[in-house]
Amino acid sequence: MSDPKRARAVGPSTRSVHGGERDHQTSDALTTPIYQTSTFWFRDSSELREYAEGRKARDEYGRYGNPTWRAVERKLCEFEGGEEAVLFASGMCAATTTFLALLPRGAHLIVTSDCYRRTRQFISQYLTKLDIETTVIEPANNEKFEAAIRKETALFFTESPTNPYLRVIDVAESARIAHAHGISVVIDSTFASPINHRALDDGADLVLHSATKYLGGHNDLLAGAAVGSSEIIAPIREAVGVLGGVTDAHSAYLLLRGLKTLSLRMERHNSNALQVARWLESHPKIRRVWFPGLSSHPDHEVAMRQMNGFGGVVSFEVDSDLDGTIRFVDGCQLPYIAPSLGGVESLIEMPVLMSFWDVPAEERQAYGITDSLVRFACGIEDPDDLIRDLSQALESV
Ligand SMILES: *Cc1c(COP(=O)(O)O)cnc(C)c1O
Repeated sequence: MSDPKRARAVGPSTRSVHGGERDHQTSDALTTPIYQTSTFWFRDSSELREYAEGRKARDEYGRYGNPTWRAVERKLCEFEGGEEAVLFASGMCAATTTFLALLPRGAHLIVTSDCYRRTRQFISQYLTKLDIETTVIEPANNEKFEAAIRKETALFFTESPTNPYLRVIDVAESARIAHAHGISVVIDSTFASPINHRALDDGADLVLHSATKYLGGHNDLLAGAAVGSSEIIAPIREAVGVLGGVTDAHSAYLLLRGLKTLSLRMERHNSNALQVARWLESHPKIRRVWFPGLSSHPDHEVAMRQMNGFGGVVSFEVDSDLDGTIRFVDGCQLPYIAPSLGGVESLIEMPVLMSFWDVPAEERQAYGITDSLVRFACGIEDPDDLIRDLSQALESV
């Protein structure tokens, strides 16, 4: 549990540095130690009994808890304004464990169309084995959302912003509709980070993260997280103990360290991406830019109302074909060609070659993945250097 009073009283950078860490230490080390242990020992059987009967709070076995990852969980509670958080081995593990924990057999699920590909794959290949039916709706279409609701509908799941078109879901409005029908709202907030949007404050029941991205922030770890009320987290925590997708103490430590600069990093990601997006939009060799901070984006108004910043990812179409777009991407010298986002290094990718290369062209088109689409995940480099690099690379188009 976190201290919600303090979480409200301090700013995001103070929260980044101090959240979750101070109260539990025995060694007086200033930083939270890496508890590199798979199990915890009991002094005698009476201590074990006290623990088993719930009279003594302590650790038992590494799959059920570790003090290093609990510090991260407390910090994430303060960031998101939740009562409890759970860490996972990856963002995918957060999503799959959550779905398995919260969806009864035969339940109905509503998701939005612009969605992380592996999440979509889990829904279509694995949840169907539990007779779970799914309706896919356009992001930001509340009429379609209401029309899709059935009496078996248990969850509404969406990213916000989505990938790669950065659609922003009006979470307060979605929660109002969902809650009127007893449906829980789960938001994958990976692209926002809790600095740009706190979905729980807007009525979401659960927030998921690929902590691999902004939360870790340095392209050096894989982790996932879920944050919400104690009530919704309880079955998820139970499920992670059974399914076993736990993080390790060393990754948890790296994540804890990364989180201390989350607020500072997001400031730079936000401002870099806004400058890059505006510059790209005015460039004659760019056909279209998707960035929620631009007034041309379909969800600009919702984003302005709901978010404190728009994140570091900019998607755009080069005014060329596949080969011309490849020449541009290969001509960039600063960003790495790599999947992922949210780290200090800028990354660039063409979804057609990266996440969707094995998807038939027709299906790809249905997802709106064109040959000239580029996703640029701004790092924290100097904005003038990024723009200069993009500019010289566009000369080869
Ligand atoms: C990366 C990502 C995931 C998956 O997270 P991993 O940590 O790579 O397992 C899920 N959702 C979104 C929106 C992502 O960007």
